[in-house]
Amino acid sequence: MAVSGRSFDPTRPPSSVTGGPVVDYSLARRSVLSALRRGHLGTHDVCDAHPELLRAAKNIGETRSTPCPVCSHESIRWVRYVYGEELKRNNGRVVYPAEWLRELVATCDHFTCYLVEVCVDCAWNHLVRAYSAGRRYQAPPAQTERRERG
Ligand SMILES: [Zn+2]
Repeated sequence: MAVSGRSFDPTRPPSSVTGGPVVDYSLARRSVLSALRRGHLGTHDVCDAHPELLRAAKNIGETRSTPCPVCSHESIRWVRYVYGEELKRNNGRVVYPAEWLRELVATCDHFTCYLVEVCVDCAWNHLVRAYSAGRRYQAPPAQTERRERG
C-alpha cells in the first residue's frame, strides 16, 4: 500500500515505516501538489493541519527559508514526532528541544521519527520523511538534510 504523507495526525501516526530505515515522501508530496494544480484536490484537502500539529509548528517549529508550495508565504516550519513502544510515555511526543532527539537515540534501540512540514499561514502539511532511529541505527540522518525543494 502506498504511503501518502498527507494530513499528518500526531495522535495517529501513519502505519509503520516499511522499505528501509528512511522513507522519503518527496514523490508523494510532488504528486499531491500536481493534483492540487490540476484541480483534483482542493486546498481544503491539503491545508488541513491537525490543530496540535499547527500549534507545535507555531510554537516550536524549525523555520525554513523555502516558501510554502500552496500559499507561497515563507511560513514553513518543520516539526518532528517520535513513535515507538520503547519510548513508553514519550511515544507520540513532539521533539523539543532538538537535543532531546540525540538523547533518545542514545537511550533507545529503536523508534521512528517523522519529520513533517507545516505552513503556519495556510495549514498545508505533508510528511518530509520518516526514519528509524536509535542505538541500532547510530546517528539519525536528521541533521544533514538539505533537499526540501519539490
Ligand atoms: Zn501556506
